[in-house]
Amino acid sequence: MAARFILVVLAVTIFHFMLQLITILNQCHRFPGFVYQRARFTSDHKSIEIAVRPRKGSKAVCSRCHQPASGYDQLAERRFEFIPFWGFLVFLLYSMRRVDCRRCHAIVVEEVPWGDGKRTLTKAYMLFLARWARRLSWKETAEAFRTSWDKVFDAVEHVVTWGLEHRVLGQIDAIGVDEIQYAKGHKYLTLVYQIDLGVTRLLWVGKERTIESFQGFFTAMGKDVISKIVFVCSDMWEPYLKLIRQNCSEALHILDRFHIVANMNKALDNVRAEETSRMKREGRAPVLRKSRWLLLRRSENLGADQHFRLRDLLRYNLRTVRAYLLKEAFQQLWEYNSPAWAGKFLDEWCRQTMRSRIEPMKKIARSLRNHRELILNYFRAQKLLSSGVVEGLNNKAKVTMRKSYGFRTYPVLKLALYHSLGKLPEPESTHGFF
Ligand SMILES: [Zn+2]
Repeated sequence: MAARFILVVLAVTIFHFMLQLITILNQCHRFPGFVYQRARFTSDHKSIEIAVRPRKGSKAVCSRCHQPASGYDQLAERRFEFIPFWGFLVFLLYSMRRVDCRRCHAIVVEEVPWGDGKRTLTKAYMLFLARWARRLSWKETAEAFRTSWDKVFDAVEHVVTWGLEHRVLGQIDAIGVDEIQYAKGHKYLTLVYQIDLGVTRLLWVGKERTIESFQGFFTAMGKDVISKIVFVCSDMWEPYLKLIRQNCSEALHILDRFHIVANMNKALDNVRAEETSRMKREGRAPVLRKSRWLLLRRSENLGADQHFRLRDLLRYNLRTVRAYLLKEAFQQLWEYNSPAWAGKFLDEWCRQTMRSRIEPMKKIARSLRNHRELILNYFRAQKLLSSGVVEGLNNKAKVTMRKSYGFRTYPVLKLALYHSLGKLPEPESTHGFF
């Protein structure tokens, strides 16, 4: 008797809870042409299912032309996953109608305001997941909300696709081009950033580092946007230079300071590695051992102990030491304000370096001579565009890639990069579910 009483109380409680749930949904996720009919637990009590039906007299909307059309038939019930609720998975159940659209001359499935085509998640849930996927890795997001990596991918894809379709390019003054390695075996992505003073964002991701892929950027942005670009910042990669000359002939093209420094560090590192192994072969004292970071780091970033070791090292008459001093001397270039003085310094540095008989450094000097005008553009642009912006964005891109995204494939990375760096607009939501 008592047991029966408890069961009745429980049933009444659940009944009231389900009614409350529909009231809550009507508050936060309401669509004029549809009504929430009833809510119930599934038999395993892990999920809540909420039946949705069209409001009486409301017409279905054709998913092709987005206009109301007369009904044709109804398909089998579909489940749309909604934001989980107090640990329960929540599904909306709805039988899609098909319309006989006179505009489209076809039988077309209706579009529903909470869904996006064939996707199984509701728009609200996709936006919810995508926002978390910007803070956590996709794997962590999937675990936190007891869903799968694939669904997080779907959510981000939905939000990014919407964002790219709705973003406003506006006036773009400055762009920076860079590439980033995403897998072993020379797999690169080309990234183009907007680096205006007030706005920095990822504009475009291209597969590979080829002329064709980079040309894709100019095509995607359109002549109108491209023709108004004032500054272009890039590294010395010849195909980039050529395409920029072709497409942005009016823009001031600036060679990226960060890349020049990076190239010089690479050259210095080659000299050091070569000399270290030569000294080892000749049985000389290993004075260059563990010197790599001493030499590559800027001296002001070294600790007291490291300073001491560096000073010690600099006493030796080594090719590595001479290359290091050339590299350090070069830093002075960035202190200049006038392009003319910077040019004089650059010429003098190249002259000295060409006499150094250190081939990797001479190679740098030759390349700097060849690109002299583009380097001096940095000073002509009055250093307004510190390419440090590009460097900063690229570091963020690397962090985005390092986070585990499951599969390091081009489509996944492209989405992840747009999602975290694109500053894309988001689809509107009827309610903030946080
Ligand atoms: Zn239609």
